Amino acid sequence: MLYKRSSELFAQASKVIPGGVNSPVRAFKSVGGTPVFVKEAKGAYLYDEDGNRLIDYIASWGPMIFGHAFEPVTNAVIEKAKKGTSFGMPTEIETQIAELAVSMVPNIDKIRFVNSGTEACMSAVRLARGFTGREKIIKFSGCYHGHSDSFLIQAGSGAVTFGTPNSPGVTQGTAKDTLLAPYNNLEAVKELFEANKDEIAAIILEPVAGNMGCVIPKHEFLSGLRALCDEHKSLLIFDEVMTGFRLAKGGAQEVFNIAADIVTFGKVIGGGLPVGAFAARAEIMSYLAPEGPVYQAGTLSGNPLAMAAGLAMLTELNNNPELFTSLEEKTKYLHEGFDKVLEESELDYTINRFGSMLSVFFAKEPVVDFQSAMVANNDTFKKYFHGMLKEGVYLPPSSFESYFLNDALSYEDLDKTISALKKVVPTL
Ligand code: PMP
Repeated sequence: MLYKRSSELFAQASKVIPGGVNSPVRAFKSVGGTPVFVKEAKGAYLYDEDGNRLIDYIASWGPMIFGHAFEPVTNAVIEKAKKGTSFGMPTEIETQIAELAVSMVPNIDKIRFVNSGTEACMSAVRLARGFTGREKIIKFSGCYHGHSDSFLIQAGSGAVTFGTPNSPGVTQGTAKDTLLAPYNNLEAVKELFEANKDEIAAIILEPVAGNMGCVIPKHEFLSGLRALCDEHKSLLIFDEVMTGFRLAKGGAQEVFNIAADIVTFGKVIGGGLPVGAFAARAEIMSYLAPEGPVYQAGTLSGNPLAMAAGLAMLTELNNNPELFTSLEEKTKYLHEGFDKVLEESELDYTINRFGSMLSVFFAKEPVVDFQSAMVANNDTFKKYFHGMLKEGVYLPPSSFESYFLNDALSYEDLDKTISALKKVVPTL
């Protein structure tokens, strides 16, 4: 495959956009080579600026769960755009999507819409601090909750891909209020509670992690966190930016049958438009302005185009709950196909999968936390990534990311992907 036009566009972009991209992982810095500039996409396929067709396994990092240019969503946006794109005044559609989201997700009474997952998590933590009157939070190494200051402490995703899990620009004052524990390690969390009695406002975590690659929680880890929060009167925040409306209608709370106090959303809830949201029971949400004292606002929050896309997406998911099973079956099929190919090779590998999230690590030992994810062989990953790309398969360009399957993928696409791996393995 040729990437002549992508190279040219990247060089041009790099003159006016830092690193040539508006979000770091897109730059291919950890895998090397030229980022692919996409021209358009339909269903399971990306069409790039050089005329290549790629099978897409990132789905815009999650949102495009039905595939690209999904008609119910695009039509809703087009129709809405004709009637004005922003008012800065309340609209009925905001209530419609709020009602639907509240009906689909357990343990929430009210929801506030924002413009990104970052904003959702940042606001959720402020709300937790306001509600509890405490300042410290616990986060897990390798989890990513957006780029707000409190979270850029041993952060996953692009932050670790580029070797800056602790970003310059975050003050020590901010950093000291973020306490860290290894994922899946309940003992470490207990110790933090003991050492910081009555000071911890909340624990925030990805209930299935996707930002150190896909890492699955042990059930006793999640239930243990719930119990610790109850014992210490701290709030449990599930960052469901990836898992929300992807693992099930009700996200990870439904799948694991564990109640969070605050839930954050992004990605699928916006149908591919810039949307985030955070939600909780009424008692907690009443602390939020204008009802309560915790301030949070946004000129474009609840934007009509974004709400139209989100409402169309959630309506489709609500009406087609079999989608979650069908997606999981496809992901399992891919997992089993990959296993077969890799088992026959000499390579050390581990595949983690949960629902429609999956990651391949070139590591021998199970990957259960950030440390075990970091052990994976990045040189092999680079060759694997570029090998698959040559075969027309677009994977996340970093081993610290999850694949997101979309329902437009056919079994033929999955077979092609498995065949591509067969060709690539001897080169690794
Ligand atoms: N939380 C999680 C779990 C995420 O995966 C991400 C983004 N990948 C965010 C928060 C931040 O969302 P956004 O990029 O929309 O700001």
